[in-house]
Amino acid sequence: MARYTEASCRICRREGAKLFLKGDRCYGSKCSFDRKSAGPGMHGQRRGKPSGYALMLREKQKVKRSYGLQERQFRSLFEKAERQKGVTGGNLLILLERRLDNVAYRLGFANSLSQARQMVCHGHFTVNGRKVDIPSFLVKAGDKVGLRERSKAIALFKDAMETVARRGVPLWLELDKDGLTGVVKELPSRDILSSTVNEQLIVELYSK
Ligand code: SF4
Repeated sequence: MARYTEASCRICRREGAKLFLKGDRCYGSKCSFDRKSAGPGMHGQRRGKPSGYALMLREKQKVKRSYGLQERQFRSLFEKAERQKGVTGGNLLILLERRLDNVAYRLGFANSLSQARQMVCHGHFTVNGRKVDIPSFLVKAGDKVGLRERSKAIALFKDAMETVARRGVPLWLELDKDGLTGVVKELPSRDILSSTVNEQLIVELYSK
């Protein structure tokens, strides 16, 4: 599968926001966005006023890249959001949050979303007791996400758990740190998701 090979910190600087792509490093003094937030490249400082189209494109890229998705995956999720009842932009953000790789990351089983995706692909996770190795799997309210019995001894998961206190577990999830499991208490609503995203710009971009 195609994947981004560009340096993660460069992506943050390009999108003008911290996307937390590198785990621990993002919370420390080594975050390159905190040290140098200008765009990457020799003309990074000199970018002029963006056009309306550029604003829409950058917002879409920012969200897409923060979830580590390719255009086709993102577009297909957008189309799914469009078919649902309610506001398309909000539906899209909720669908993104419901992905199993994201839930594993939010619960603190991994230090970054890309690490969580790799762990899901390697078959370390279960949903309601059944192994699921599809990162795009969408969780539902009441689902129980956990590690397979034989994966619980892996130090990487326990180490990652130590950093979850710093990030915090979202309100719609509940973590049992000792049992290495989490429950989807309810599906997230738009109000409790990041307010720094202007999803309407993404809807406008795809409606063109
Ligand atoms: Fe982005 Fe900073 Fe993390 Fe690099 S360290 S990925 S710039 S948030």
